[in-house]
Amino acid sequence: MSSAPPSRPALRSLDDALTALLAQAQPLQGVDTVSTFEADGRVLAQDLVSSLQVPPQDNSSMDGYAVRSAEIADEGVPLPVSQRIPAGTAPQPLQPGTAARIFTGAPVPPGADAIVMQEDTEVLDDQRVRILRVPAAGQWIRASGEDITRGSTVLARGERMGPAAQGLAASIGRDRLQVARRPRVALFSTGDELVMPGQVAPEAMQPGAIYNSNRFFLRSLLQRLGCEVQDLGVVPDTRAATVQALRECAGGNDLILTSGGVSVGEEDHIKPAVQELGSLDFWQIAMKPGKPFAYGRIPSPGSAQLQGAHFIGLPGNPVSSFITFVLLVRPFLLKLQGATRLEVPAVSMPAHFDWPRADRRREFLRVRRDVHGGLELFANQSSGVLTSTVWADGLVDNPGGRTIARGDLVRFLPLSELLA
Ligand code: AMP
Ligand code: MG
Repeated sequence: MSSAPPSRPALRSLDDALTALLAQAQPLQGVDTVSTFEADGRVLAQDLVSSLQVPPQDNSSMDGYAVRSAEIADEGVPLPVSQRIPAGTAPQPLQPGTAARIFTGAPVPPGADAIVMQEDTEVLDDQRVRILRVPAAGQWIRASGEDITRGSTVLARGERMGPAAQGLAASIGRDRLQVARRPRVALFSTGDELVMPGQVAPEAMQPGAIYNSNRFFLRSLLQRLGCEVQDLGVVPDTRAATVQALRECAGGNDLILTSGGVSVGEEDHIKPAVQELGSLDFWQIAMKPGKPFAYGRIPSPGSAQLQGAHFIGLPGNPVSSFITFVLLVRPFLLKLQGATRLEVPAVSMPAHFDWPRADRRREFLRVRRDVHGGLELFANQSSGVLTSTVWADGLVDNPGGRTIARGDLVRFLPLSELLA
């Protein structure tokens, strides 16, 4: 009888991996109070409830004349102009039988129920105005509270602030906001082949050396997600150096993020080093690019309990590193900040390419929207080709085992959102 072949580790589905990862991401303790100006990208730690109506009063959406619509049965009616109401002033009640000159944004005087735009009037010599069109009650008036009513929640805790949300917070009078504190993330790359741009000129590169590209995009991706980054650069490919680097970072950080060295080769020291210091779940994820991925925890030095830092090890291949970051690390970091919207919604779009060879794993193809409302494919989908990631404006999320024929509808994930 032949013995059973050595079993390969089962691949985890991406959905399972994400669920397991998010289960570990308990929101961080602590909030920052920041100026509304500085809140872009931060996650609200409080509900924003309006204590006023927006707009505060009925106001004019036109330059023109405020009138009582019932007084104007026919076109051509002349009315004396009884007051002038620029924006920012408080009007008197509208005297019966008159019109009030009014400007965009100015409060509608009590008694008036319509604005006649100035294009529909004729100014007479004797302080009167002729109304050339019969107004409908309510016309050109923006109602008090039409944007926000008093007592309503305009932005909920867990919402991530962006420019529009900053404006909305300001519109209810908030100049300071409570937001989740920034995650502290230590970042290092592994790989003795890596050199830094600026340290070695392209023409002086030794055989086998490559530039450390992952460090650049990972740092920016982290910063975009509101993280404070402690960047340790490159850690040599030895177990001792890896252990030392992990130990140094575990104290002051919420997450240690590494790239490379996470496979199972002899030069891959991340796994044993994390296991030596803490605990490790190593996943081969059924996705392409990006199969090897590690999650663990490393206790702070001197602390008995396994609190310390989260650990995430990304693959070294640049495209794999990039894609596992946006699909797994991004939602993880958002959840640490208490964000409620973790997923980027996919859009169904037609493929304007063929993908005749299915992979068993779920694939994330680098594509770009064309002017015909479909998707073009970058020719080289290798996990080392970072050019594809710059060329692309999105990813096609293609289930394992599926080929794509021109015209098929596919799931498109916009990179603009995955990078936000
Ligand atoms: P590893 O996961 O360490 O086996 O690396 C896989 C591949 O990615 C190798 O070809 C590495 O040279 C490359 N690689 C690893 N780290 C980086 C990095 N920081 N920048 C660019 N390429 C990298
Ligand atoms: Mg390596």
